Formats: sequence, C-alpha cells, structure tokens
Amino acid sequence: MADTRYIFVTGGVASSLGKGIISSSIGKLLQARGYNITIQKFDPYINIDPGTLNPYEHGECYVTIDGVETDLDLGHYERFTGIQTTRANNITTGRIYQSVIDKERRGDYLGKTIQVVPHITDEIKRNMLILGRQGNYDFVITEIGGTVGDIEGLPFLEAIRQLKWELGNKAVCIHLTYVPYLAAAGELKTKPTQHSVKELQSLGIQPDIIVLRAERDLSTNLKMKVASFCNVDRDCVVQSVDMPSIYEVPVKMQEQALDIAILRKLNMAIGPTPSLGPWREFLDLRNKATEVLHIGLVGKYDLQDAYKSILESLQHAGTYNGYKVKSHFINSEKLTEENVDEQLKDMAGIVICPGFGQRGIEGKIIAAKYCRENDKPTFGICLGMQMMVIEFARNVLGYADANSREMDETTTHNVIDIMEEQKNITHMGGTMRLGGYQCDVKNGTLTHAAYGKDTIIERHRHRYEYNNDFKAEFEAAGMDSVGINPESDLVEIVEVPANTWYIGTQFHPEYSSTVLKPHPLFMSFIKASIEKNKNN
Ligand code: GLN
Repeated sequence: MADTRYIFVTGGVASSLGKGIISSSIGKLLQARGYNITIQKFDPYINIDPGTLNPYEHGECYVTIDGVETDLDLGHYERFTGIQTTRANNITTGRIYQSVIDKERRGDYLGKTIQVVPHITDEIKRNMLILGRQGNYDFVITEIGGTVGDIEGLPFLEAIRQLKWELGNKAVCIHLTYVPYLAAAGELKTKPTQHSVKELQSLGIQPDIIVLRAERDLSTNLKMKVASFCNVDRDCVVQSVDMPSIYEVPVKMQEQALDIAILRKLNMAIGPTPSLGPWREFLDLRNKATEVLHIGLVGKYDLQDAYKSILESLQHAGTYNGYKVKSHFINSEKLTEENVDEQLKDMAGIVICPGFGQRGIEGKIIAAKYCRENDKPTFGICLGMQMMVIEFARNVLGYADANSREMDETTTHNVIDIMEEQKNITHMGGTMRLGGYQCDVKNGTLTHAAYGKDTIIERHRHRYEYNNDFKAEFEAAGMDSVGINPESDLVEIVEVPANTWYIGTQFHPEYSSTVLKPHPLFMSFIKASIEKNKNN
C-alpha cells in the first residue's frame, strides 16, 4: 500500500521502560479501529539474532512461526494483537551489516567506499520499509531497541530522521521517557525527559508524541510543561503509569486518546472509538478473580524474563479459568530428593521449563519424579518434556543411566537423542529445529480433549528428540506418545494417562498463547491444577 503509515517508537532516559508494551498497545488500538497493522523491532546489537544469547543477557528468545529466533518483544506483539510475526519483524545490526557485507563481496557497490552513512543507513531504511511495501498494512509500527544516546543506536536514528523527511506526514515518532519521583524533594522531575528529547532533536528528530512512564499520576501542569519545553502538541503528551497488569495499558492509552493523536498526526480517518469488548472482558475477569493458584516453575534461570511467554500463558489461562495465577520460581540447581517435597508440595501445578545444557537438569528430573509419583499436575516443555522422559526411563523402565545425548554422549539408554539432521551441524546460530511443525494428536487422550483437534501446528526450538527405539517400552510401561509429527514420525507429546495431568511437549506452546486466544494446553493444565488442588 503506497499509503502505509509509519510509527517509530524510541526510548529515552532508561531502558526497560516498556517500549514493547507501548508499541503493542498502539498496535492493538489501531487494529481495534479496523486498520491492518504490524509491529517490528530493530535491535542495535551485533548478534544476527538473539538465538545465541544467554537469557541473562536478553531474556527469553521468542520463536516465530516461520522459525526465526527473535526478541521477546515480538511475543508481546503477538499476545496483544493476535497477529503472527515473521522473519521480517526483527532486524539486528548484525543482519544489516551481514547483508551490506554480502552485497559488497558480490560487487553490488563496485568502486564505492562502504560507509555507515549512506550504506548502513540505507540498508536499515530498506528493511524498515519491507513490510510496508508488501501492501498489506495501513500502519507499520517500528520499535527501536535501546535508548537514545547509545552509540550503536545512532545509525537507526539517522535512518528514522531520513525516513521522516522522505515520508513527510506519513511518519511519526513516539518517544517514551521516564519521569522519576524524587522522594526527598517530594517532586516528579521532567528534566531527564527534556534532555532525552534534546538528544533526539540534536540528531534531527523532533518527536511528535511523548509517552511519559512514571510510578505515579502526572498532573496536567507537568504534561503541559513537557509539551512546551519539548515542542509537542498538548494532546500529544500522555502518561503511562505502572499498572497491575501490562494488559491494562491499551485501555489507559485509549482513555488518553493516544490513538486519536496518532491518527490525527497521520491524517487518517478516526471514526468511532472502539469498545475493546473482549479485551475488557479479559481484564474484568482478571480483576474479579480473587482466588490464587500457585504454580511452580522449575528452571535454572532465576530471572522473570527468561520464561516470559510461559508466565504470560499461565496468566491468560488462569484468568479464563477464574483464578489469579501466582508463579513461583523453583531453582532446579538447588532441588534435591531431600527438599523436593517441601519445595513443591504447596504448588497446585508444576511447569518443568525449557533450557539447554547440563546445569540444573538433575533437579528437573527430581521434580518430574516427585510430580509423577505424587500425581501433581505437571507440564514439561521442551527440555522439561525430555526430563520427564528420562525420569520415566530411569525410575520406571529401570535404566539408571538413561539420559539425553546432550548431557551424556556415551549412554546406551539415550532415550533423548540428537536428531539425524543435527548431527553434522557445526554452527550454533539458527541451526536448531525451529518454527512451526505439524503434529497429529491421538484421539481419546487428554491432549486431544484439550485441543479438540486431530492436527495442530506448534513452534519448536531444539536439537534433541525422543528416541523412537524406546517407544514400545515407554508405551507398555505407561508413558504414551500422543502427538506425532506425520512427516518425520518424531514424538512431540508424551502423556502419562494414569496421572491426572502429566504431559510433556517437545514444542513450545507458550509462544502461541494470546490474550484473546489462551493456549488450549495451558487452559487444560490450569483447569486440572485447580480441580486437583480443590480435592486435596
Ligand atoms: N536442550 C534441548 C534440545 O536442544 C531442549 C531445548 C529447549 O528446551 N528449548 O533439544
């Protein structure tokens, strides 16, 4: 669509202010007005993608349906808007340079000196416009990672400056800043915002709209001050105050007419304000829920962001089941036969988390054993599923040395094995089994009842797999393979039918749970956890 409008979202003063949530909320509000939107993230780091990053560096790695490892903000985009993202929605400096260097080697720039300006900035601009040029979107929202003032962010800001100039009234810049409260002075301070806007202006970008993050309500006077000092219209300064849930943010932005300000700036039809019906129903349910359901997450990363999509999926499913889910992190490295009862007994359900490498796996196996033997509703995801399988092999099939090839190359009971196509891979980045694969679900199982479907597509991110050589033994002993990839015959889901809810998935269902479409397996897991907990 030649008429695609571009919304750039930048951040100032500090990182972690929630640019992803603001971008998602804007997307949601424009979508509710009937517009086609997409949201993309440009990250200034040099990695080609976050796939090789440790979660301590950058939180969870989110996987798109087309098999790209991306920034966790894409998870927010999908959860808020229900629209699937793809490879084009997350670009890093690494990808930009890789593409420019490839062109240089091919001879595309023959004779020229390749420079940050114009070659890198042109490549950034080209990528910023790719989705818009497909002709499917009224709005392309582009979030820029990092904070204004970062050296590595400069080429991205220069690209925005040029695009704003080229696109004229078809582009706006929304700048998110922070307004701190100084307790000693008893005052909220706008100076950091003024400085951050000045920094942007010195790069040639005048923000059109300013969103002020704050811990408390901001007065009209304060907002007026920001408007006049930062050169923006009065109705273009909005506040984003801490909320009990990130899902309240679109409603708060709508109350302050942020979407109308954007539409007005971009000369787009405004029309009636949408009611956000189903969204508000979700929030109502969430606010009405009084009873708390305690779910334990057994994993090795003591960091909320590492399991972002799982935490959100639990929230979605809890809300639709009428409960507030409280997630408790249980460090698998510290879990022992001696303390497992004390650590897990008060949890209504347990999620055994994904992960890579040896660290903390014995604790996951101890948790799997405890949950299986004590009939605790348990959801194993990816590495979590693999640990359920290993535990079953060790303690039910009697193979004490059962393990995954990932952890023990020599075991004869390699119940989790390296995938054939992974054997000769030498590069780490982007080489796992990634993205959406089909899976046939066995009729008459708990999993089938949850999905209500014979065939599903779920997203993967792993190198190792269930070893079919042991399948008959597992099945005979009570661990069924209930989800099979029809092409490769790989086992994707295991279930212990003797238990109330003991299911492991090789794929990551958490990537596809959204606010308006909670994931069926999380729904079923939470429901079982609630019921089991009542009967205890
Ligand atoms: N490390 C395991 C594998 O590569 C599991 C990966 C995961 O949990 N995402 O197969």
